[in-house]
Amino acid sequence: MVKVTLGSTGITVNKNGFGALPIQRIGDTDAVKLIQKAYTAGVDFFDTARFYTDSEKKLGLALKDVRDKVYIATKTAAETPEELKEQLEISLRNLQTDYIDLYQFHNPSFCPKPGDGTGLYEAMLEAKAEGKIRHIGITNHRLAVANEAIDSGLYETLQFPFCYLATEKDIELVQKCKEKNMGFIAMKALSGGLITNAKAAYAFEAFYENVLPIWGIQREQELDEFLSFIDNPPEMTEEIKAFIEKDKKELSGDFCRGCGYCMPCPAGIEINNCARMSLLLRRSPSELQLTKEVQEKMKKIENCLHCNQCKSKCPYGLDTPKLLVKNYEDYKKVLAGEVSVK
Ligand code: SF4
Ligand code: SF4
Repeated sequence: MVKVTLGSTGITVNKNGFGALPIQRIGDTDAVKLIQKAYTAGVDFFDTARFYTDSEKKLGLALKDVRDKVYIATKTAAETPEELKEQLEISLRNLQTDYIDLYQFHNPSFCPKPGDGTGLYEAMLEAKAEGKIRHIGITNHRLAVANEAIDSGLYETLQFPFCYLATEKDIELVQKCKEKNMGFIAMKALSGGLITNAKAAYAFEAFYENVLPIWGIQREQELDEFLSFIDNPPEMTEEIKAFIEKDKKELSGDFCRGCGYCMPCPAGIEINNCARMSLLLRRSPSELQLTKEVQEKMKKIENCLHCNQCKSKCPYGLDTPKLLVKNYEDYKKVLAGEVSVK
């Protein structure tokens, strides 16, 4: 079994971490079954967030009897120390535990530091001194904040999007974390559903020994595929390398990574999915994208106010409103049967 140590935390776990965002979409019984199956097969790192509605509660239900055998990471998007304390108590209650192994700031727009006037980092230190959290981490989608967090020496882990579509600058983050003995947790290792070859996704992550990918799992079939990697970890073969190169070419240029950094949208458009609909239609089962619910979401593009808020926030420099229109036009053609996605 391949293991990863998260830098100075000393947390050493199976290289297949469990990302508990998607379990929000399934019922308690199915979620508990999935989590317990993962645990029984050797998965021992579970990542959730206060923001993921009932995800913490489901993890608590599933893991309460094996609490001392697993590591639980959660996140807070608190903006004040009071809010942080309040959220931490809720997380502890939901997770049915009296400590969190890794407590992370959830994608803040700046890097919290002691003395910055927000009191957020001090609140983290207080929670640590009280034994309610064991390690302090940060998650982010912005390169600048991630770099500042690494340079600050204040954080034991960084959670950042990292998949085989990563840029040189993303790879630099991984290397910097290694040099600073800081743990690196890879989110969106499947690029929010755009990467459909799990073997290639794993082989890429396996190449970086200090990286712990957390797979966002919702279906038993997806879980089974990742569990099979525990005994047979895919390696970077010539065949996989060629596949990745081909996929990178296909996905190069102006495509939306689904990070959601441009949201919320004042017109209520679910930009992180709508702006990459053409890709989702072709790279995942198209019927999932053609439901009434998704059609209604796509129709909201007609209400775009062209305020350009999204465009100014996109870290990939995308012309988001234009991309939305392009995706909507394509979507309507697919719906009308004028374009085939098979
Ligand atoms: S330009 Fe349109 S899609 Fe972008 S934030 Fe404004 S309303 Fe939303
Ligand atoms: S448009 Fe840009 S910021 Fe918005 S979800 Fe896509 S990649 Fe992320």
